[in-house]
Amino acid sequence: MSITVDKPCICGKQHRTLIFRAGMPIEVVDRVYCPTCIEQGLKNGEAFPVRGGWYLHFNLDVARMFAMAKLGIDPALVNPGFIIDGGYVD
Ligand SMILES: [Zn+2]
Repeated sequence: MSITVDKPCICGKQHRTLIFRAGMPIEVVDRVYCPTCIEQGLKNGEAFPVRGGWYLHFNLDVARMFAMAKLGIDPALVNPGFIIDGGYVD
């Protein structure tokens, strides 16, 4: 099961198609940054690279709630690597 969402970059000029898998709530991604914004240093706070040169900023509280409630995983183990490497968001 997956959900596909087009989310605009903070600049509003480009959209990234995000795929959410295994029931991960779409609210887990709160900001996306296009390659142009990254190049121009417009990234604000911690964001993590995904394919295509885009970066994502996560709401880790959402991810922790999901991991605890749906997967029975200790929320302390949830970080951006868990989300990206686990394929929950691409
Ligand atoms: Zn942008």
